Amino acid sequence: MKREPVLLISKEDIQKRVQELAREISKDYRDKKPFVICILKGAWMFMADLVRELKVPVECDFLAVSSYGGETESSGVVKIMADLTRPIEGKDVLIVEDIVDTGLTLRYLKEILLSRAPKSLKICTLLDKPSRRQVKIKLDYVGFEVPDRFVVGYGLDCQEHFRNLPYIAYVEPTNR
Ligand code: 5GP
Repeated sequence: MKREPVLLISKEDIQKRVQELAREISKDYRDKKPFVICILKGAWMFMADLVRELKVPVECDFLAVSSYGGETESSGVVKIMADLTRPIEGKDVLIVEDIVDTGLTLRYLKEILLSRAPKSLKICTLLDKPSRRQVKIKLDYVGFEVPDRFVVGYGLDCQEHFRNLPYIAYVEPTNR
């Protein structure tokens, strides 16, 4: 089946919004040194662009998770494939996520990270798909709201395809 990605958010619009988010975050974290956690794999491109725009010093770390389930559906059962390299106790933690769909992944991650006693914990997501939410979750910084489509590009994949697109697009999934 041919799956051509259809443009949703341009490279220029992403760049502009990332700068706006970075300004807001820099203001909120002035005099602080946030511990920024990139959720792999999808958030790496966003993380790289975002931290470069921040005007505060940061600590960066990475958390690789995999959620089990169908090709385009999250089951909410999240496995940590690679954990953080440093403790977050007493730190101002900022989670950087690619997209919040049902919210199950982040609810689980938040629980795990809160049990490690950070000083504060906030969430920054590039994309938010509110129409699909199953659990209530507070998102502190949101790049864009997207419709109920399977989105790819700018770090997000569909079976490891399309991650390197410099823009965000959608594809028609095969299983829903
Ligand atoms: P949730 O647990 O909120 O349903 O799903 C979160 C994770 O599912 C995201 O971090 C992402 O990896 C994946 N996901 C959800 N929706 C999409 C989408 O439209 N496109 C891609 N590529 N991944 C998605």
